[in-house]
Amino acid sequence: MNRPAMETILNKIKEYDRIMLFRHIRMDGDCTGATKGFKEILKLSFPEKEILLVDDQKSDFLAFLGPDDGSVEDSVYESALAIVLDTGTADRVYNQKFKLCKEIVKIDHHIPVDDYGTYTWVEEEKSSCCEMIAEFYHTFRDELKINVTAATYLYTGMVTDSGRFRFRSVSGDTMRYAGMLLDLGIDTDTLYAHLYLQEFEYLKFESYVYDKMQMTENGVAYIFVDKEMREKFNLTQEAASGSVSFLEGIKGSIIWMAFIENSDPEKTIRVRLRSRFVHVDKLANKYHGGGHACASGATVYSAEEMAALIADADALIKEYKETHEDWL
Ligand code: AMP
Repeated sequence: MNRPAMETILNKIKEYDRIMLFRHIRMDGDCTGATKGFKEILKLSFPEKEILLVDDQKSDFLAFLGPDDGSVEDSVYESALAIVLDTGTADRVYNQKFKLCKEIVKIDHHIPVDDYGTYTWVEEEKSSCCEMIAEFYHTFRDELKINVTAATYLYTGMVTDSGRFRFRSVSGDTMRYAGMLLDLGIDTDTLYAHLYLQEFEYLKFESYVYDKMQMTENGVAYIFVDKEMREKFNLTQEAASGSVSFLEGIKGSIIWMAFIENSDPEKTIRVRLRSRFVHVDKLANKYHGGGHACASGATVYSAEEMAALIADADALIKEYKETHEDWL
C-alpha cells in the first residue's frame, strides 16, 4: 500500500472536470478490467465529471465486457487528467493521444523499465492492476462508490492476471479484495463461462500444439505458431497467442514460451515468456520487451534471434537448476 501516492491521485481526480483512462496495446483482462472498473467507480462517485475511455481495440476474448468510448477531438484531451493503467512504458499505451492531456497519472504493477507520468503509483508485487483499483476503492470507500458492474470488471482482471489466484503474487490482500468484490454479487458462473469455455476447433489447435511443441535440453518448452498454422486453424493473433498457456504444466520445464508470427510484412515474431521459480523479465528486456518476473513479452525479428532467445532461456534454466533445489 502506498497511501501518499493514492492520496495524490485522488486529489488530482477531484481537481479535474474531465478524466481520461488509458490502457496498453493487446488489451488483456487486467488492463481492460482496470480501465472499465475505474471508469465505473469514478462515474458513480463523481457524477458531475466527464470520464472517458477512448479505445477501439478489438478482442474476441473480452468482447463480453462491452465497447468503450468513441474517438473525440484532440481539444478534449488537452484539458483532461490522463490516468494510464497497467502499462509499464509510454510506447505501449494504445491510445497515444494520452500525451495531449494536461497531466498524466500512471497506475501500474509492472517492473518499471522507463518511467512516464507526472504522478505515479507503481507496486510491482501486486498480482494485478485491478487489485490496485480495488485497494484504491477500499482505502477511500467513505468517498467513493462502487456497484456490481465495476466489481465484475475488476474481478475479471484479478482472476485472469493471477492465473485464477494461483501465482506467487497472490497475497492475503488479493483474496480480501476479491472477497469484497464478490460480496457485491458478481455472477461468477456467467463470468467464468465467458472467460474459459473454448470453441471445439480451438481445442483441436491445442492438441496440435501439444503435438508440435519442442523442449530444449534443460527444459524450455516452446511452440512457434507461424502464419500457416494460424491459417490452418483460422486463428486471430489473440487466439494464437493463447497457446502459451497450453505449455505451462510440464514438470521440470520452468520456462515456456510461445512465438507467434505477426501479420506485418517484416514477419516480426511476438514472444510470450512464462516461468515459475526462475525470472524472465531481464531476458525479455534483452529482446525488446519486458513485463513481470514470471510473465513477460518480447519481440524477435528473425529465426536466428528466436534461436538465440531459446538458447539464452535454456542457459538460464541450466544455471538455475544447478544452483537451486526448490524447483519442480
Ligand atoms: P504477454 O505475454 O504479452 O501477455 O506479456 C506478459 C506481460 O508482460 C504483460 O503484463 C505485458 O503487459 C508485459 N509486456 C509484454 N510485452 C512487453 C514489452 N514489450 N515491454 C514491456 N512489457 C511487456
